[in-house]
Amino acid sequence: MSPIELSKRQHRIIDIVKENGPITGEHIAERLSLTRATLRPDLAILTMAGFLDARPRVGYFFTGKTDTRDLSDEIQKIKVHHYQSRPVLIEQSTSVYEAICTMFLEDCGTLFIVDGDSTLVGVASRKDLLRASMGGQAIETIPVSVIMTRMPNITMCEKDDSVIEVAQKLISRQIDGLPIVKKVEVGSGYEVIGRITKTNMTSLLVDLATNETS
Ligand code: ADP
Repeated sequence: MSPIELSKRQHRIIDIVKENGPITGEHIAERLSLTRATLRPDLAILTMAGFLDARPRVGYFFTGKTDTRDLSDEIQKIKVHHYQSRPVLIEQSTSVYEAICTMFLEDCGTLFIVDGDSTLVGVASRKDLLRASMGGQAIETIPVSVIMTRMPNITMCEKDDSVIEVAQKLISRQIDGLPIVKKVEVGSGYEVIGRITKTNMTSLLVDLATNETS
């Protein structure tokens, strides 16, 4: 279904009703310095398209429906930190076996690996750990740092990045999640402060569909 293109005036009407509803057609016309008759087609379109509802003797009120253009503006304003999860961090000397246990216990799909100063050094995914377990290697003794994807090849984001920017990175890099990072005060590394995953993106989609974005 192609989205309906609203005129500038129709957007103005929605804004007036949002702020002042319930409001009569007469009063909307007054605010726009137009006649009630001039507005009639606009009000009919907005009511038929489901943006406004009209109650006899009460007036027009906003239904909560958002225009697609408003929706894309709204999505652009959503920052990563609105949808983040807690990061699961392990130290780089942790064995692959321990890393697998952590993944199960924490019920997550991506582990972030840090050095002794809590600076990000790598990422280990489910398949990285699975691959390491398949070769008959001693996973109890091999450190996770041997099998991880390491810096500087880690795709990261910051807490105020837009969720759309992050979703584009998840798709283009074909990964399940990103660390949300902050530059450390001293030195050139990054501290991990959060995690954003495809699951978080699915929550966002559901919130958008039910009009409940945070
Ligand atoms: P899986 O491998 O379990 O399907 P991913 O698709 O997330 O999970 O990971 C694919 C590969 O990309 C893995 O080798 C993993 O180490 C790497 N990877 C995962 N997340 C990132 C990231 N944020 N930056 C760089 N590489 C990543």
